[in-house]
Order: sequence, then C-alpha cells, then structure tokens
Amino acid sequence: MSEVVLEKLSKRYGTVDAVREVDLKIDDGEFIVLVGPSGCGKSTTLKMVAGLEEVTSGTVRFDGQIVNDLTPKQRNIAMVFQSYALYPHMTVFGNMAFGLKLKRLPKAEVKRQVEEAARLLNISELLARKPRELSGGQRQRVAMGRAIVRQPLVFLFDEPLSNLDANLRSQMRVEIKKLHQKLATTVIYVTHDQVEAMTLADRIVVMNEGRIVQVGDPLTVYNQPVSKFVAGFIGAPKMNFIPARLVDGGAGGLAVELSEGVQLAVPRSRRDAYAPLVDGAIELGMRPEDLTVDFGGDPDHATFEAPIDVIEPLGSEALVFLTVNGVEVTAQCRSEDVGRVGKTARFRIDMDKMHLIDPGDGRVVPVVAT
Ligand code: ADP
Ligand code: MG
Repeated sequence: MSEVVLEKLSKRYGTVDAVREVDLKIDDGEFIVLVGPSGCGKSTTLKMVAGLEEVTSGTVRFDGQIVNDLTPKQRNIAMVFQSYALYPHMTVFGNMAFGLKLKRLPKAEVKRQVEEAARLLNISELLARKPRELSGGQRQRVAMGRAIVRQPLVFLFDEPLSNLDANLRSQMRVEIKKLHQKLATTVIYVTHDQVEAMTLADRIVVMNEGRIVQVGDPLTVYNQPVSKFVAGFIGAPKMNFIPARLVDGGAGGLAVELSEGVQLAVPRSRRDAYAPLVDGAIELGMRPEDLTVDFGGDPDHATFEAPIDVIEPLGSEALVFLTVNGVEVTAQCRSEDVGRVGKTARFRIDMDKMHLIDPGDGRVVPVVAT
C-alpha cells in the first residue's frame, strides 16, 4: 500500500501537450478514478505513474519518495489493461504464477498465493485451462489475479472492462469494488465511462485536454460540477443545457426567462451568487430527473409548456424528449405519467436543483450549499 503524489506532472509528445501540470494527492488505500473523454491524457498519466512513460516535467512520489527514475519493476506496481496480455501457451495457474516464479518464491508458496487469489476472483476451477478456453470476463479475472498475487503497492487499471459486454461489465464492476474492499490497496483506475467512475471511485478526477478539471467524491462532482464540461460529462442521461436569460423577477427575486412571459423563479438563497449575471444571456443546466411532466397540482412549482418530440419507455420510467428554445431537452418521468401526455405538455422543473452556466467561460456559478 502506498500514498501516491503527482506534482506538476506533464507530458509532451512533440507538439502535443498530452498531460499538463497535473497535481494530485492519492491517499493510501484510496480508489481513484481518472475519467474523461478519449485523448484527454488519462493513459499517459497512468503510464507515468507506472514508469512506462518518461515524464517531461514534474514528479511522481510513492510514500514521499520520488520514483521518476525507477523502472516499473522497481516501483512495485501492477497494471491491468483493456487487453489481457495473457501468455497463450500457459495455463491460468501458469499465467498467475509467472511473476512469483521470477521472484524465486518456493513452489508451495507460489501455489498457496495463486490459489488464494483464484479463490478471491472465483476462478479456482479454471486454473488448469489455457486462455483460449476462457470467456472474455474470465480472462480479465485472470489478468487481475496475476496483478493481485504480486501484492503491489499500487494497482493501475486502464479501461480494464472496455472489451466486455454491458452485463459482464456491470458484474465485474461490483467484483472490482469487492476486491478493493478486501485488499484495501491504492487503486488508480482509468476509464472514459462515467458510470464506472461514479460507481467505483472514492474520488473522481475529471480530466479534459490534459488537465484536471475537477476532483471530488462522486456525489459532489455530480451535484456540484464546476463547469459545463463536467456537468455534461458526468451523469446519464446527460444534463440539459437550455439557453435563457437571467432577469429581475420582481419582489427582489431573480428569474430564469425561457421566453417572453415564461419565467422560472430562482431560489432566493442564490440571489447574491447570481446577481452579477442579471440581464444577460445564461444557460440553465438541469438534470433530466429534475424535470417531469406536471399536472398542475402544486401552483408553487416552476412550470413551462413544450411540445413532445419522442418518448422512450424504459420500464418504470420513461424519457421524454422535448424542444425548448431550439435545443433538445430530456425529462425523466414515471411511465404512468407519460401515458397522459398529449402533443404539448406542461413540465415542472425543480429550480432548487438548477445550475447556472456563465456562457462567457462555461463555468457553473458556484452557490453556497443549502
Ligand atoms: P486517453 O487515455 O485519455 O484517451 P492518452 O493519454 O492516450 O489519452 O493520449 C493523450 C494525448 O496524447 C492524445 O492527444 C494522444 O493522441 C497523445 N499521445 C498519446 N500517446 C502518444 C505517443 N506515444 N505519441 C504521440 N502522441 C501520443
Ligand atoms: Mg487511454
């Protein structure tokens, strides 16, 4: 186990700044997920931690000690990739034991450690098989088993589940989480899949264009994204962004004006934070779950009307697609409510969950947590 600290870590390939001044302190035993779109620098960051890629500038420390000049082997990390890279001619046992044999551990000890890891991963009955006799999910377990038996200071995962089908992926997610709960080894896990990030991480590190844009526990990142980029990247279905204006709503309050005559009252607690943007164009950020069909029961709710384009039934819920101010908006509704929807429907919006985006810089205007 190990604490990992990255300081001003940068990587330049020719003219491409793949990683730019990444600062991150990872606690001993923490499960960190680096998440972001393809090409944002996740793998490069991980490779610099592993020692597979030289740093252009900055430092990597394990437990306080700079490891920049250590080889991957000397760093005592274990890495699991998207491709399993198992030795095809060796059995599962042989693949898992390989690293231990190189360390010249006694045979009985190798056997004990491999069997223990196999038990942990539910692959005990597969030890005699060759990789070609395994399913994709089983191979990925073997790759993880091989990592576990090495008892590394840090586990590094790079999109380990991307080759698996959706069912298996969600199953393996749970397995990896269980494994971490048992082993409590520091994990740095790279994925472009925000669901994996949300479900696995102690803390999520959102990256974009080589930089860290936000670090926080999953719910904080979900509820308080710092920018439109993070707000749109984390969460599915995606957050809606509706172009609108921020106006004086009368009686000292502010309102979001969707169109002439359609004003949604802004919670009073946000007045000071939002005041500098009054009388300007803004974007209203709203998650689909905070937008539903309204039946006029409660006059206090902010509502607006819009034509429905498409309905996607999902079972207990349905996604309703509507157009507001020229953009497509998604509302997440109970299935039984959608049944009553006509051509144009009234929607209720939970303004306590609103995000105000400054179109000038794409920042979500921060509000004091209520
Ligand atoms: P991610 O893992 O987030 O998809 P990468 O870290 O692989 O992103 O890549 C970050 C950027 O660095 C991309 O623009 C990519 O094209 C570039 N890059 C990665 N590896 C190399 C390399 N070996 N040579 C040149 N450019 C590279
Ligand atoms: Mg990558």
